[in-house]
Amino acid sequence: MTANNEGKKWSEIPIGGVVDRPGSSEDYKTGEWRDSRPIHIPEKCINCMICWSVCPDCAVVGKDGDFKEFNYDYCKGCGVCAEECPVDAIKMEEEGDFPNSVEEKK
Ligand code: SF4
Ligand code: SF4
Repeated sequence: MTANNEGKKWSEIPIGGVVDRPGSSEDYKTGEWRDSRPIHIPEKCINCMICWSVCPDCAVVGKDGDFKEFNYDYCKGCGVCAEECPVDAIKMEEEGDFPNSVEEKK
């Protein structure tokens, strides 16, 4: 029987690509993958919430119908929100310039 690099037989390796319990996606902070960070420009924002509707990761947070913030725990930095914003109220910046948070930009 063929063994993998860890010395396990194929039949001993857990099956991949299986969601083994519901609601587990919140456990995976996919924002760690990000190499670009969306930055909100409140002076330009007209609160149309198009960014909220197009974000594939539900990482745009609204409050009372207006833009509130990005949830950087899950934002993967795809840039769709910035691309679709009709008034250029979102700019994408290099993630490496932000060691921890927006306020701590180098
Ligand atoms: S799409 Fe642009 S203008 Fe509309 S809520 Fe988002 S940031 Fe504001
Ligand atoms: S960059 Fe992509 S993942 Fe992040 S908030 Fe914008 S649309 Fe969502």
